[in-house]
Amino acid sequence: MVVQLNETYFKSTSKTMKDIIIIGGGLAGIINAIQLSRAGFEVLLIEKGAYPAHKVCGEYVSNEVLPFLNLHDIFPVAFEPPHIDQFQLSDNQGKSVKMSLQQGGFGISRFLLDDFLYKKALASGTSFLLNTQVEDVCFEENAFRVSLRKGDELMARIVIGAYGKRSRLDKNLDRDFISKRTPFIGVKYHVKADFPRNLVALHNFEGGYCGIGAIENGLTNICYLGNKHSLRAHGSIEEMERQVLYKNPFLKEIFSQATFVFEKPEVINEVSFASKSVVHHHILMSGDTAGLISPLCGNGMAMAIRSAKMLSALICKHYKKGSFDRQMLEKEYTHAWRDEFAWRLWYGRNTQKLFGNKLASSFLVGLARNASFVANIMVKQSHGKPF
Ligand SMILES: Cc1cc2nc3c(=O)[nH]c(=O)nc-3n(C[C@H](O)[C@H](O)[C@H](O)COP(=O)(O)OP(=O)(O)OC[C@H]3O[C@@H](n4cnc5c(N)ncnc54)[C@H](O)[C@@H]3O)c2cc1C
Repeated sequence: MVVQLNETYFKSTSKTMKDIIIIGGGLAGIINAIQLSRAGFEVLLIEKGAYPAHKVCGEYVSNEVLPFLNLHDIFPVAFEPPHIDQFQLSDNQGKSVKMSLQQGGFGISRFLLDDFLYKKALASGTSFLLNTQVEDVCFEENAFRVSLRKGDELMARIVIGAYGKRSRLDKNLDRDFISKRTPFIGVKYHVKADFPRNLVALHNFEGGYCGIGAIENGLTNICYLGNKHSLRAHGSIEEMERQVLYKNPFLKEIFSQATFVFEKPEVINEVSFASKSVVHHHILMSGDTAGLISPLCGNGMAMAIRSAKMLSALICKHYKKGSFDRQMLEKEYTHAWRDEFAWRLWYGRNTQKLFGNKLASSFLVGLARNASFVANIMVKQSHGKPF
């Protein structure tokens, strides 16, 4: 479907005015770019980094995205991502339970997936500015002025914020959540290890939890959400792992037997699960920029893809009508986003409180062992239906 843009509405005088600028080229940014470029919009995506690149992420993608990715020919089939249908949960001491995943998922590194989608976006007609950081965005006279760190300025009619969990830009845009500090840090490795190819595991440790899952080429992803106070107390990531994570025997075993592919781990800090604005200063937020679900749900990537599908479809719909009502688009997107994601984010945020705690994690494992139907309902609550 090619959407006819209503040029008379905007009456732009500037030659450099883009239809749409997308800030950030992770999953949400690139999926928006592919959908909107294919619909006939002139899309410029500005990404701070380049492709391919590693990202802190458990790299388990919920199967709810499969119909959408297949329909649009953007499922990375050539990389043969392992199919995952089993789940293991252990408490801080290593007492564990295994269960089948009703919907399941697949494992693929962001290194491959984001690069694959980037190439799809290029082929769809998206222009990219790589290694370029957006510093600020101003809305005036029904258009956006996007300031780059390098000093240049660009103009656009629509701006999508898809710049992830946290950015300097949030500070410049004066978003509420940015002033609240959080203790969470994320750490990721790729390893070669003897780990089942159809399993995703969540192992608790004091103050956090660690996901382990198969990805492409026989590799395994180890990714954990830890605590900066624990890191400070132990002085280094390595020492914290030995003193804290190794208390769970599953973690001790995988860390001891694995061959590490990276020289050092990928690390991020200040991981925030706070509520955020879905539209801010008329910028339409997508993916983690609108809200991050706790990683234990294994659903952030699927949500980024789903929110991009939702937003790009609404932009197309509002242009198709022949007149562009920005207020209407913002209102509809905010409602649609809240209907789809608000409960899941709340649920993830609160369930996460049971993880990383000795008693609570033990209770969770006991519950899953003795009342598997309750555990199945809990897993289901954090996931969406296939789309
Ligand atoms: C520890 C941890 C484990 C996780 N594990 C899983 C998992 O197993 N499964 C799952 O589904 N989800 C998981 N998630 C969540 C998942 O990683 C995110 O939900 C997903 O990456 C969101 O994609 P996104 O496109 O919104 O953001 P991102 O993928 O973060 O992309 C944002 C992009 O914006 C760019 N950017 C930032 N600032 C600027 C700027 N100012 N200008 C230009 N570009 C900018 C960045 O370089 C980046 O490329 C995990 C998260 C964490 C923290």
